[in-house]
This record gives sequence, structure tokens and C-alpha cells, in this order.
Amino acid sequence: MKAERSIFSDSEYHEFENSFNTVVMQYGGRLNRENIHVFTKSGLNELLDYYYWLIRSAQYAPEPYNPTGKLYVDFVDSPRCNAIAFEKDNREFIGIFLGAVARIYHIFYLFMSSPKVLIEIGEAFEESVDKKRIIELHTKDPDGSWQALRPKNESRFRVAQHLAWNAMAFLFGHEIAHICRAHLKYLETEIDSTEYLEYPFTAISPQVATQLQQLELDADTAAGEVNMILWRQHIQGGTFPLLSEISPIKTWGISLALLFRILDFEEKRVRPHYHQTHPIPAVRFMQIVYEGTSEFGENLEANHAQSLGEAFRIVDAWWKESGLATYSFRSFDEDIEKTIDELDSLRSGSKELHSSLRNLTEVRNKKIRKNKV
Ligand SMILES: [Zn+2]
Repeated sequence: MKAERSIFSDSEYHEFENSFNTVVMQYGGRLNRENIHVFTKSGLNELLDYYYWLIRSAQYAPEPYNPTGKLYVDFVDSPRCNAIAFEKDNREFIGIFLGAVARIYHIFYLFMSSPKVLIEIGEAFEESVDKKRIIELHTKDPDGSWQALRPKNESRFRVAQHLAWNAMAFLFGHEIAHICRAHLKYLETEIDSTEYLEYPFTAISPQVATQLQQLELDADTAAGEVNMILWRQHIQGGTFPLLSEISPIKTWGISLALLFRILDFEEKRVRPHYHQTHPIPAVRFMQIVYEGTSEFGENLEANHAQSLGEAFRIVDAWWKESGLATYSFRSFDEDIEKTIDELDSLRSGSKELHSSLRNLTEVRNKKIRKNKV
């Protein structure tokens, strides 16, 4: 067992692993990383180490990120672009589906393979995209082939990896929020579900869709703040020297805008006739811009809203040009009033939700503190 996973004793780790496997069996089971390609394996191991580092760090963070308790995270052996948070026997779990990792890296690689995107990085003119690889996205489930799609230029390949890695960190923070902000408990009381599956496999009512969209925005807020602070720390600390000349808010915004588009694309591709469980990318992104203004405070650049707008436009332009806007597409600037109205309506309708969440969080936290002593 890796040192990073030292929040568990050996026997505990195996118990958690077994419980995880039992619950996710219906989706494909726990991914056995021993059987996969060596590059994929080392990438997944690094992600897990980082996730466990975040869990350990969160133990020293203020609420609502603490207490996290003993949280187990692992991959699910499924080609679907999905993630799950659940509780079993008073233990908490997060599962990231292999298809989510594959699809996210795949599209970030394609994005940086465009000669028109972030031309200040590497030799952008060397890049070209095989249109076929983009068309495939509409028909093929994610698989291991993303490893072969790396941008030609080494610097651009690295930047694609950094941006995708941040998207994976955000996704994980978002799942943590579903647990720590008591969304799971809320679903248990409201719709009798013990799992928070990002993209359910069955249809849901319009009422439940609205409730889920409100929870999604809440999870984005919690994940967004921590994710942005960590991203800026990495940039300022020199972890990503290739990105040091660009505004960190802009690169952070690109990473999130592309992630929201990818998830939305997959949701609509796989379950086109269901009520959407997540707000559209423009609404999720607008919420990040809002929260950036009111909540993230001193961590901001003076012109953060402008940098975020620029980020979303870069992603939009590439998305449209690549022919990925097959499903309903709203850009950041187009119908901006409609986007703000939708966001306001979700936010203003969630006052009651937030007060239930506060109570449920208190119940959860008390239980975890009791278990710690
Ligand atoms: Zn979610």
C-alpha cells in the first residue's frame, strides 16, 4: 500500500476495498490497475496519490471540508464517463469511472492539438488534428486510445496533461463536496437513494432533475474554491513552468470550461432523452464567475471575471469549430441573460435546500467526530 494511503491500516484498507468493489460491481467493479497499459497505470496511480494527499490535507482544513473522515477513493472499471459517491456501513467512498479519465484526457489532448489554441505554448503551428478522431467522439465510448492522441509538440503535450490533471482534481473535489456537504444524506431523505451517481442510468422526474442541478451547483462552489487556490499555488510555486506566463485564472478557467463541456457532451450523447441532472456548461461556468466575485475573495486577480470570460470563449471557439456542438449549445456570450436567469432561478430556489444541508452536515460531522475519538 502506498504511503499516501496511510489514512488506513492495512486491514482497514482491504475492508474498504472490498466494500467498494461490492457496491460498484453493478457498474463494472473495482478497476484492477495491474492489467492495464503501463502509461495508463502510472497516470492513474499518480491521480490516486494526489487524491489521497488531498484527503489527508483536508483533515487540517476548516469546515465544510473537514471532517472528511476515512474516505476511500478508487477507479471503477467502466467505459462510461461517470463518477459516484456513496456510503456503506458508515463508511464513505468515491469512485471515478475509467471512462471519465479516458474521455477527459482524450479531449484535452485534442484541444491542445489544435494549432489555434494557446498559440503562446510550444510550436502550435506544428499541430494538426485528425478530424476522424473528433467525429469518433460521437459514436465511440471512451477507451485507452487517448494515449495515442497526444499533441506533437512536447510542451503542448505537457500543458494538455496539466490542464486535464486539474480537471480531474476538480472532479474529485466535486465528489468530496457531495459527501462533505451532506448531499448523500439529502438524497437518502428525499429520494431514498444511498448513492450519488453523477449520471444515473435511469430516467428521473423534472423535480428531481432540478434538485440535482441545485446540488451540482453547490458541489461546484465547494470544489471550485479549493481547486482554484491549489492551481494558483502550483503555478506560483513553479510546478508548471510552461504556464507561468499566462494568467492562472485564465488557464484554470480553460480547464473547467472544457471539463463542463466534456461532461455535458457525454451526458447528452449517452442519455439524450432524460432530464438533465447537471446545469448546462454556461450556467455552471457563470456560477464559478459569480462565486469568484463574492466568495473566493483575496485569492483573485483584479480582472478575474474578464480572464474567466476569455477562458470560456477560447473553449467555445474550439468546441464549435471542431464540430462538437452537436447537442444544444449555448456560448458564454450568446443569450447571457438567459444563462443568468437560469442560474438565478436555481440559486433562489435552493434556500430551503441549503438549510436542510446545514442540518444534515451537522449530523454527519458529529458522527465522524465521535468515530475519531
Ligand atoms: Zn455532481
